[in-house]
Amino acid sequence: MSAARKRVAVVGVGTMGTQAAWRLAARGAEVVGYDRFAPGHDRSAAGGETRVFRSAHFEDTRYVPLLRHADAL
Ligand SMILES: Cc1cc2nc3c(=O)[nH]c(=O)nc-3n(C[C@H](O)[C@H](O)[C@H](O)COP(=O)(O)OP(=O)(O)OC[C@H]3O[C@@H](n4cnc5c(N)ncnc54)[C@H](O)[C@@H]3O)c2cc1C
Repeated sequence: MSAARKRVAVVGVGTMGTQAAWRLAARGAEVVGYDRFAPGHDRSAAGGETRVFRSAHFEDTRYVPLLRHADAL
């Protein structure tokens, strides 16, 4: 990231939005997330209390190293 601090707005802070915001912030950006519901709400694909993180991938095992890397992050 350049010396000038980037300002980024992320609209929709579910799975993808929160990850993008987190990694951008880790690189020094000033990040604001906007969502139509409160954090942790149960109306997104990622919300609720029944989700798991799987490291198995039936369709293509080449995704498995990527999944392991994501899990470690
Ligand atoms: C029951 C279930 C089980 C699943 N299990 C797995 C699993 O085991 N493993 C796996 O890898 N994947 C699983 N998935 C899929 C995974 O959850 C989704 O692919 C992933 O969460 C999608 O991420 P996303 O950021 O695109 O959407 P979301 O996580 O849904 O986030 C979108 C966000 O955008 C917000 N938003 C939408 N419209 C607007 C707007 N106009 N203005 C502001 N905010 C807005 C929403 O409120 C939400 O917070 C599962 C999905 C479901 C439903």
